[in-house]
Amino acid sequence: MRPPKEPTFRESVDMMFNRAVALMDLSPGLEEKIRVCNSTYTVRFGVRLRGQIFTFTGYRSNHSEHMEPVKGGIRYALSVDQDEVEALSALMTFKCALVEAPFGGSKGGLCIDPTQWEVHELEQITRRFAFELIKRDLIHPSQNVPAPDMGTGEREMAWIADQYARMNTTDINAKACVTGKPLNAGGIAGRVEATGRGVQYALREFFRHPEDIAKAGLKGTLDGKKVIVQGLGNVGYHAAKFLSEEDGCKIIGIIERDGALFDENGIDVENVRQWIIKHGGVSGYPDAAHHAEGAAVMEEACDILIPAAMEGVINMGNADRIKAPLIIEAANGPVTAGADDILRKKGTVIIPDMYANAGGVTVSYFEWVKNLSHIRFGRMQRRQEEARHELIVKELERLDHYLGDKWSMTPDFKEKYLRGAGELELVRSGLDDTMRIAYQSMREVWHGREDVDDLRTAAYLVSISKVAASYQAKGL
Ligand code: NAD
Repeated sequence: MRPPKEPTFRESVDMMFNRAVALMDLSPGLEEKIRVCNSTYTVRFGVRLRGQIFTFTGYRSNHSEHMEPVKGGIRYALSVDQDEVEALSALMTFKCALVEAPFGGSKGGLCIDPTQWEVHELEQITRRFAFELIKRDLIHPSQNVPAPDMGTGEREMAWIADQYARMNTTDINAKACVTGKPLNAGGIAGRVEATGRGVQYALREFFRHPEDIAKAGLKGTLDGKKVIVQGLGNVGYHAAKFLSEEDGCKIIGIIERDGALFDENGIDVENVRQWIIKHGGVSGYPDAAHHAEGAAVMEEACDILIPAAMEGVINMGNADRIKAPLIIEAANGPVTAGADDILRKKGTVIIPDMYANAGGVTVSYFEWVKNLSHIRFGRMQRRQEEARHELIVKELERLDHYLGDKWSMTPDFKEKYLRGAGELELVRSGLDDTMRIAYQSMREVWHGREDVDDLRTAAYLVSISKVAASYQAKGL
């Protein structure tokens, strides 16, 4: 529950926007145009289930159409309301601008607890919701392209894509109406892991800059850093898994709906994930201490805190007790505007949501391009690339032969060098590049302007200027 005086999610986003825009030189009219949410469609529809009619409420909000299609996930949760989808759709506008994904911002949601319904019931509900949005072009390859968010995944996206195809039988680009689909339904390799992978790439980029590490009062590399993660869903699981398995981070705390696990020596992320899948929560997990009051574990000492569950979890009620010197917002809006003020004053470095979780929309962009081009990435060049590499390896092998004991190839060089990039490698490379460039654009402002002392304001400045330039180019 929100503590008293805590702004709503939407108000929080507006306050952060206002702080940034006050440092810019935009006309008041353009400033207002960029801030407001263009439209929010509310639909109430009935579905006959279990012998009676159930009425569901869903939303699709288009924050900004300065670029089309607009893009943004569809969330299934009981917390979904107009305020939430509008806040999330505004964040999508700024996120897409920051990582240069050519979309406007949108978001959708259905007020539902997905765990209360059988799979075939969820399919009926999803298809009906999709039908309502499709017939108003609120799902459309060139107008509005949803993706997964909390409570939805590949399965729901496949139902939506199929529903669109049924209603638009001659649209050759039908698959591009939604992203985050399974591979066999037009998806792309690496989309499921993308947001968590993006969080990993964001942290790697942060740790490439000694000045930034020092700002957080940290030292060294990611290796050995103590991490607490809230929410072991799609985003949190992949981020924690990659950071622990590939970068040497120690995951000391995992917070879920039914409490938290804590172990100073590190927790095995994959084991916990398997436990959650089997038992529905972290309770009873044998290899770490369980704390019934999960949220309190966010206040434990650690190097990096990764809120990856939902908005508003770090608020005016607990911000001053958060000890982590570095927070990376894997979820959307986990830190409220009030908490942001408290943390900034304490010197906590926050890598903001609009950047930190942009991996999802970045790879969604690649999937959309793949669907429109009707060809898998790497299909044309992979073998040709391998053949060219083979030429070099053959020459090196000749050298190897003549130089004998003076020189030889590193044992796994040949195998690694010969392998041409497939779709997954290309997607990861494109994502890594995107995360590095976007971080650098933020840090230039962070370090370059005396009136900017945090990455969030820097991120807003970069993205608002890009949105403003688009509107100006349209003659507004
Ligand atoms: P998900 O449904 O896969 O996972 C959410 C997890 O958080 C679940 O394991 C759930 O049990 C847990 N959780 C929910 N409420 C909690 C609470 N109060 N305390 C502790 N744990 C809680 O959702 P997701 O797709 O991983 O999304 C998580 C966040 O990341 C959301 O804010 C979403 O908007 C954001 N996000 C997701 C994507 C994506 O590609 N899926 C992209 C960008 C941003």
